[in-house]
Amino acid sequence: LWYQEQFKVIIVGLDNAGKTTILYKYLLNEVVVTSPTIGSNVEEVVYKNLHFLMWDIGGQETSRASWSTYYMYSKFVILVVDSTDRERLSLSREELFSMLAHEDLKHASLLVFANKQDLKGAMSASEISDQLNLHSIKDHAWHIQGCCALTGEG
Ligand code: GDP
Repeated sequence: LWYQEQFKVIIVGLDNAGKTTILYKYLLNEVVVTSPTIGSNVEEVVYKNLHFLMWDIGGQETSRASWSTYYMYSKFVILVVDSTDRERLSLSREELFSMLAHEDLKHASLLVFANKQDLKGAMSASEISDQLNLHSIKDHAWHIQGCCALTGEG
């Protein structure tokens, strides 16, 4: 094929949520081509016709404005949550809803990974779904999946 449609997938989450582990170990089991970091907070990985753009949310306000540059044409947003990080779940929720309100993500579908299910005290996927208020999302297809990035479960 001389032409392949390219898909952009945005992976976001707080630092330490497990984004890097999920991206490299479980989405991409083969060798990946990594583009040079395109912004100080954004990492781009290209695999076949998939472009993964990954960054930490809830960071410094200064860099946040530039993230929306990467939203355009994205059909998929993956939010990774550390299921043991109760304190910062509301921060993830705020960032998620401000992202989904963005014009360029109007048609994006959402996948939430409730990661680190192997750890003691991890919140269940349904508890996280409630805390994130996912049921209030009517204008995006969404799904939440409990997982453990270390074993690949989920
Ligand atoms: P990122 O900052 O979101 O990219 O997070 P990383 O992928 O760097 O992971 C942060 C830390 O959590 C690392 O020490 C990982 O090994 C660990 N980690 C990631 N996923 C899991 C998981 O499912 N279970 C456990 N126990 N640790 C995990």
